[in-house]
Amino acid sequence: MAQKIFDDIQHHLNDIFQYMDVPEDVRSRLSVPKLALSVSIPVRMDDGRLEIFKGYRVQYDDTIGPYKGGIRFHPGVNMDEVTALSFWMTIKTAVVGLPYGGAKGGVKVNAKALSRMELERLSRGYIRHIADVIGPSRDIPAPDLYTNATVMGWMADEYAQIQRRQVPDVITGKPVRLHGSQGRESATGRGALYTLLQWAERRGMKPSATTVAVQGFGNAGYHFARLAREAGFKIVAVSDSSGAIHTRKGIDPDRIMYFKRQRSSMHEMMYADGAICDLDDPSCVTLSNAELLELDVDVLALAALENQITIENAPRVRAKHIIELANGPVTSEADTLLFERGIPVLPDVLCNAGGVTVSYFEWVQNRSGYYWSAEEIYDRLKQMMEPQANQVFAMAEHREIPLRTAAYVHALHRIAGAISERGTREYFNGKERV
Ligand code: NAD
Repeated sequence: MAQKIFDDIQHHLNDIFQYMDVPEDVRSRLSVPKLALSVSIPVRMDDGRLEIFKGYRVQYDDTIGPYKGGIRFHPGVNMDEVTALSFWMTIKTAVVGLPYGGAKGGVKVNAKALSRMELERLSRGYIRHIADVIGPSRDIPAPDLYTNATVMGWMADEYAQIQRRQVPDVITGKPVRLHGSQGRESATGRGALYTLLQWAERRGMKPSATTVAVQGFGNAGYHFARLAREAGFKIVAVSDSSGAIHTRKGIDPDRIMYFKRQRSSMHEMMYADGAICDLDDPSCVTLSNAELLELDVDVLALAALENQITIENAPRVRAKHIIELANGPVTSEADTLLFERGIPVLPDVLCNAGGVTVSYFEWVQNRSGYYWSAEEIYDRLKQMMEPQANQVFAMAEHREIPLRTAAYVHALHRIAGAISERGTREYFNGKERV
């Protein structure tokens, strides 16, 4: 398994470079991360044992600005995965034009099995181990799988204790009352909606005549579904790990969230009092997670996990458009097949960049000590994402390439331009005019 995901990335990168004219130096620079740190974090457990956790921080590229990327706590974390994720962050920050590079971190741990005090000790221990390589102008972590605002608050506090001063801009995704930003929670879903609205406009799709199925009803999926409904789209199906609900009459995501907070499964909430389905709606049914992916809808929004549309189920996908809020929900083989079938896939590196964009706003606010209203955040997010999305769409149309390839080319042009500004072989051997 070692190097598997990152090997795939390197192959993919070579494919993308076929569409670009970039100096050899740029290819060399982007073929490896700048720093890959592996640490062992001792944590005193509640029962007195000392447990050692494996942690990582990979800094891929910082040509455009300080490294930026989340920290995940998950049993599957390893150096290969973290390296791959740090590369994707490099692309994502460049797609939307943020003044950042890309990084990622993680700890190999089942966070759900830890007590709150063990989780706090691990979070603080991780920061002590990577403190020398992070900083507000160097590398700014953020939350990812199984890390949240509380964890970010502990980590920022630990860093402040090490530095003996307040350093809120060292980490983003903090609680609002601990120098966090308004609008961070809904940022990923909101950014995805802004992207979809631009796409819909280009394609002449009217939201009121557009049906949407949403896989995954966590942070990204819920806010996307809620905001998409507000924008006029018709949400006809949603799923979480307990199953899926589908009704042609349309679903109110807030009602689903109400029942989810009471720990109801999708199946249970169908029949609960005042629940999702009207009694006189025969189209209201529960489905399996796999069935939701194959519904005949206008838009399929993937907001759960990676590898959901594969070469196995891609031939059965009936959605007319796919939007990726999760990271990597469509495998590269499936991506090729969907392109051949004429089903556009709006890629993760563009569509879920709303999260890192509002993280950038949080960092800017921390650095200036002046805080913006939620409305200002939404407005600025829109202004950042819409033009970038349109440039990616225009390139894909013009060059007749998949949207993902266009997003990568768009990002790599920016990174390559910045690398070249520092001089390439052609510059130093005098073959390029200054
Ligand atoms: P989350 O843990 O809040 O939600 C995940 C949801 O997926 C849950 O509702 C879970 O029940 C559901 N799920 C799990 N397995 C499923 C299955 N087989 N079928 C249907 N649903 C299933 O996570 P999140 O923060 O919403 O992140 C979701 C994805 O979006 C991840 O890939 C994450 O990396 C990506 N993402 C999130 C953000 C963010 O700001 N939250 C930013 C960028 C990318």
